Amino acid sequence: MFHGSCLCGQVLYEYSGELGPIAMCHCSQCRRAQGSAYATNSPIQASEFRFVTGHEFVKAFESGPGKQRAFCGECGSPLYSRLDSKPERLRLRIGTLKTPIEAKPSYHIHASSAAEWYEFTDGLPRYQALEDGPLV
Ligand SMILES: [Zn+2]
Ligand SMILES: [Zn+2]
Repeated sequence: MFHGSCLCGQVLYEYSGELGPIAMCHCSQCRRAQGSAYATNSPIQASEFRFVTGHEFVKAFESGPGKQRAFCGECGSPLYSRLDSKPERLRLRIGTLKTPIEAKPSYHIHASSAAEWYEFTDGLPRYQALEDGPLV
């Protein structure tokens, strides 16, 4: 079981499934949503994810047609994104995990949108799209 929370701690969640491959997403939306060079995301099964507390604080912003970005309305922590067309999958922002994980990031996506000040130094593959990564 994985546990995680937002910055203020109002929103606690747990996840009983497997983490998918971890992607560092450099798309301009993720960069703005995180205020950083990229978002670090893993596809997870929505059916295995649940909020333990603070569900009422969770808000969603539709950043594009059919794309919801869920975040804590109290502190602003990004939690996951979800496509209306693929409701069975969430893309968890793994920086919110409290449970230590062994997995490391697998690749960069939307690398062509990377901030001009970001330097790729880890040698990992860089993809353009691959929006959702391989299937979990
Ligand atoms: Zn919060
Ligand atoms: Zn992105």
